[in-house]
Amino acid sequence: MTGRDDTATTAGVKALLTSGVVTACLYAQRPQDRPCCEAVGVVRYGPTTLCADCDRRRSAVGKGMAPVRLPDPSALLEVIAAQHACRHADIALRHAVSSARRAGQPWSAIGAVLGTTRQAAQQRFNEPVVATDPLTPDQHAQPASPGPNRRR
Ligand SMILES: [Zn+2]
Repeated sequence: MTGRDDTATTAGVKALLTSGVVTACLYAQRPQDRPCCEAVGVVRYGPTTLCADCDRRRSAVGKGMAPVRLPDPSALLEVIAAQHACRHADIALRHAVSSARRAGQPWSAIGAVLGTTRQAAQQRFNEPVVATDPLTPDQHAQPASPGPNRRR
């Protein structure tokens, strides 16, 4: 696995292990034994699964057994990373549309730049932005700008 974005990779590994589609490395829950364990299994020796790093450091585990290579988990990590990027892009788009509305842009202009109709843009975005901000639902209940059903 590459170390291009440690936080995203860690979250991806966690998602992958939680999904149950991959098997955890024998040492995944024993960081004191293998601090460099990558957690996601890539090879199996009988009932024992190891990550790439633990496989490189393997001595007695699986001795005399033929390794069975598992499908490359990094391909699934890329799917998870791409899905996260899509979610972030969607949130960014919703915030941008919300800002455009607060700046007085009509739904027709937002629809035009998005290559859709006023009505389609309004239906898609005319809902509270589900943000990762600390505001409580009550604080969101008070619209700071023109009402949500205002049309132009
Ligand atoms: Zn490992």
